[in-house]
Amino acid sequence: MEPMTADSSSGGFDYLIVGAGFAGSVLAERLASDGRRVLIVDRRPHIGGNAYDRYDDAGILIHPYGPHIFHTNSKDVFDYLSHFTQWRPYEHRVLASVDGQLLPIPINLDTVNRLYGLNLTSFQVEDFFASVAEKVEQVRTSEDVVVSKVGRDLYNKFFRGYTRKQWALDPSELDASVTARVPTRTNRDDRYFADTYQAMPLHGYTRMFENMLSSPNISVMLNTDYRDIVDFIPYRHMIYTGPVDAFFDYCYGKLPYRSLEFVHETHPREQFQPTGTVNYPNDYGYTRISEFKYITGQQHPQTSVVYEYPQAEGDPYYPVPRPENKELYRQYAALADARPDVTFVGRLATYQYYNMDQVVAQALATYRKLKDAPVQPEATPAG
Ligand code: FAD
Ligand code: UDP
Repeated sequence: MEPMTADSSSGGFDYLIVGAGFAGSVLAERLASDGRRVLIVDRRPHIGGNAYDRYDDAGILIHPYGPHIFHTNSKDVFDYLSHFTQWRPYEHRVLASVDGQLLPIPINLDTVNRLYGLNLTSFQVEDFFASVAEKVEQVRTSEDVVVSKVGRDLYNKFFRGYTRKQWALDPSELDASVTARVPTRTNRDDRYFADTYQAMPLHGYTRMFENMLSSPNISVMLNTDYRDIVDFIPYRHMIYTGPVDAFFDYCYGKLPYRSLEFVHETHPREQFQPTGTVNYPNDYGYTRISEFKYITGQQHPQTSVVYEYPQAEGDPYYPVPRPENKELYRQYAALADARPDVTFVGRLATYQYYNMDQVVAQALATYRKLKDAPVQPEATPAG
């Protein structure tokens, strides 16, 4: 542990952290555990970033920013978060509404058999995929990934419409990494994720974040844009987890982030749909409906669901993975590299389509680097 600085003892902060989501909260927790004094600010009225959860008017635990299911292959990440929460094992399952049926997605043996009225075995479905797969020289786009595995018909039915709705781009205009998030299976495994650790925080994400931020070395300031306070509060180093283009006043133009409108509903019956999420690749303005009680395990005579309507404007939720955006991000990343007084971390600040566990891993790696770095002189206020 580094000795406390003169600055901290005089009431200033060692770190000003912008954003109280996973990136900001993990760093706040780690640095505070070393005796650092941390101020974490968020312009929203709550901690947790997009993973924030709360009880709605009916008393049902909901995720205001869409369904957040925790899954990881990293023991380190799981062990780290386990200091702040107990877990409830949960494996997410998703059905896609296609041709009047609700079929398992990721596409698996049952998807194919039920869609085409077949009775194939796992071996036979491998041959089936091979017979319909298109030859693609180099898998570059989100179209390539799917048609090269399962052919054009399954691509059109399960991926093309969903992706055009979600991103307002054709899959051929998006990096392969986007649809590659959804695997293809030849067995009957109908879990959405195959990770080693799949579980939900037993008392919700917000409670977990409260535990992470409980150190007396951490001050939390909500409803506050960091720009409103940055000139008045002494600190030595900033950690920024908001959108990177906003930090630099959009000087190279706006980085595209995709947004969503969330429409929440409560229904006066115990169950709304047969599984945690139902995807609608081809109909309606929304991509999917998620029902929270499956995800949280809560028992309640009513049920709350959320519809996700993709849109261009609004809060930035998704970086859009495609070559020209990566190029624009590189320009911002060069500006970020030239700011030793600020560390950029998280999904928005590093423009990466990261899941929660990847953000935790990135934040833990960032902490290790900051810990080893020499203490800097007090930062001049960011302009
Ligand atoms: P955020 O959670 O976005 O936190 C950044 C914070 O910075 C925000 O709270 C914001 O208000 C604040 N901020 C920004 N600018 C300023 C400013 N100027 N001043 C003050 N504060 C500022 N991941 C999974 O692993 N599983 C899932 O099932 C899953 N589902 C998802 C569903 C949806 C609809 C979305 C959008 C994401 C999902 N994710 C999921 C991804 C997950 O939300 C992110 O990986 C994670 O929340 C990112 O954490 P972060 O700290 O980088 O960013
Ligand atoms: N996708 C699709 N059909 C589906 C599910 C996913 O086309 O039924 C594509 C779509 O482009 C989506 C991407 O795969 O944006 C990643 O899906 P995921 O469920 O991981 O998205 P997220 O939960 O991050 O919104």
